[in-house]
Amino acid sequence: MNSSFCYNVTIMFRFLVFLFTILFISSNTGAQESDDIALRVSERDGFVRIVFESQRDSQIARSKIFASHTLVKVDFPESFSLKEHSIPSSVSLSIKERSLYLRIKNLDKIKEFKLASPPRLVIDAFLKGYKPPEITVGKKSLRSIMLDAGHGGHDSGIRVRKHKESAITLSLTKSLASSIKSSFKKIYLTREDSNTMSLKERISVIQSSGPDIFLSFHLSNANYFALYTGIPFSEYSLNDRDYNTAFSLLKHKDKSKALARSMGTAFRSVFNTEILYREMPLPLLSYANAPSVLIELPGADFLAYDGKTLSMIANAVSVGLSNYGKR
Ligand SMILES: [Zn+2]
Repeated sequence: MNSSFCYNVTIMFRFLVFLFTILFISSNTGAQESDDIALRVSERDGFVRIVFESQRDSQIARSKIFASHTLVKVDFPESFSLKEHSIPSSVSLSIKERSLYLRIKNLDKIKEFKLASPPRLVIDAFLKGYKPPEITVGKKSLRSIMLDAGHGGHDSGIRVRKHKESAITLSLTKSLASSIKSSFKKIYLTREDSNTMSLKERISVIQSSGPDIFLSFHLSNANYFALYTGIPFSEYSLNDRDYNTAFSLLKHKDKSKALARSMGTAFRSVFNTEILYREMPLPLLSYANAPSVLIELPGADFLAYDGKTLSMIANAVSVGLSNYGKR
């Protein structure tokens, strides 16, 4: 009994040694394959964001970053092969074994952070002369606004009896434009007539005007106001265009939410109805590159949409904008 127990322990021990040897060899060969690291660099207003993405947690978790003058060095613990996406001319790149060197023109300082799933290392490089975006939106900084009347032309949106969503949103943006005239240097409308306007046309109008605030108006069939702010389709997409719009959405996320809250509070005090706040990946809001809210007004069964109602809505929006500006 006793000797057979010893014998069993010996067998067990040999088996364990064998098992560890196998594990050791396989983990070692694993480490010899090089890891694909995706590199994305985007530059905007004196600020460069550098993102390394790997499928291996350890590659990112154990990476080390050093910065001196205009050089940033990143040491990765394992060998890798780099897949880089368009890199701006202000950044030059070289690789030596497991180290990657980024030379950044006019580099002032860097800030780094690591994100999970997928593992990412983000380095924000601030260039000399970089002015951080204003934190408080004082009234003076609200120089321009763009009002978007949803739908139009062939696309009438929701129809309830004689009411067309496209016509209501157009009357509203026009009446709103005249009631907020004194508060803004410039008021843009995405459309001023009842012609059809595609999403692509709207996006190009928004981008060429570059407003400080963007509001889009729609109607629902519901009895409440719904206020939508944008969220990215994918926060760190490998597609450069998606990545840039996601980046601009995230930049304005908090301000957009504050703007929505301010609008919602004004709507509630004027109409005494329920207000819903929602986040949605809406393309228009992603392209605005400014604090943006899509406002869905109650259906025509719940609001009369005569001249008086339109001016009440316009009044609530202007109160909401002014309270947002005073924060
Ligand atoms: Zn609509």
